[in-house]
Amino acid sequence: MRTVLAGDIGGTKCRFALVSSDFGVHSAQRVATVRETGPFIDGLTQALRGILTQRESFAEQAGLELDAPIALGFGTAGVIPVDGSSVNYAPNLPLEGFPLAQYLRDEFGLPVTLVNDGRASAWGEYLRGHAASKDPLLCLFVGTGIGIGLIVDGKPYGGGSNAAGEIGHTVYRPGGRRCPCGRLGHFEAYCGGRAITERALAEIGPLPSSAAQAEARWTVGRVVEVAESAPDAAPDSNPGKAQRILTEAAEAVCALISNCCVLLNPRAVVLGGGVLAGWPALRERIIEHVHTETNEPIHADLEFVESMGGSDAILWGAAAATGALWTPLAAR
Ligand SMILES: [Zn+2]
Repeated sequence: MRTVLAGDIGGTKCRFALVSSDFGVHSAQRVATVRETGPFIDGLTQALRGILTQRESFAEQAGLELDAPIALGFGTAGVIPVDGSSVNYAPNLPLEGFPLAQYLRDEFGLPVTLVNDGRASAWGEYLRGHAASKDPLLCLFVGTGIGIGLIVDGKPYGGGSNAAGEIGHTVYRPGGRRCPCGRLGHFEAYCGGRAITERALAEIGPLPSSAAQAEARWTVGRVVEVAESAPDAAPDSNPGKAQRILTEAAEAVCALISNCCVLLNPRAVVLGGGVLAGWPALRERIIEHVHTETNEPIHADLEFVESMGGSDAILWGAAAATGALWTPLAAR
């Protein structure tokens, strides 16, 4: 089977794998996202080399025929310029100004395609997930950062300069909390996973941990655990502070998704990302908000669809973006 070496480059972690023409995801490798460019690129290169080195033995063990990859496709946070050369405006990644596509081409001798991760996810969900063929399709991913992907007429919508969709960096509260991008009051500063955990550290303090968990760090799931540990807690207690952080995050994400639905009138919405995974109750709250706070033509036939792919959807979309596996792209 033909394969593409695909990647999901996220603000907290990266995942790389061989994607085969039957949508299989093989030999996946995970790498933590570090904040310094050199070590980050080294880790990424090592993971990709590992997959290439192990391809034949992996395929033999799995009883599969996996050809050597014919292209590299990466879904990444941030804005990819029209020439596809680099990753810009990604405050959670150490890639600003780094010629990523050229580096990978030189290193691996294969064509390289970079695509915004929200767009890659949407494409993957549209090609393969529960949202297959729902058009227009809006995918909203609330993770370390916030991204959307929009499929219109079977293709991801990129906008005039390939920069559409950075909805986390629109203003929620003018002059409000500072966003990881440096500007004030953006949605991401209230409901992005990084903002939620940084607020927990700043407002509650280090995560209470046993000696065995000396390195324990805040995650959205842990903020939820603290909040739910004492539902009637006083506002200045740790559960009370966690509840306030989550309430503000929920209000922001509900407003964000309702705004998107009113603007775009999608046929279906896929909700995904690490924040929703660590905080499952948020999903119902979002759906209820959209149904009560938008007009009937917007929500009457709107479907909220489970994300099927998760990280796999980004890999499918990144592989699709190379054009090396599936033609025409909208074919399933
Ligand atoms: Zn921002």
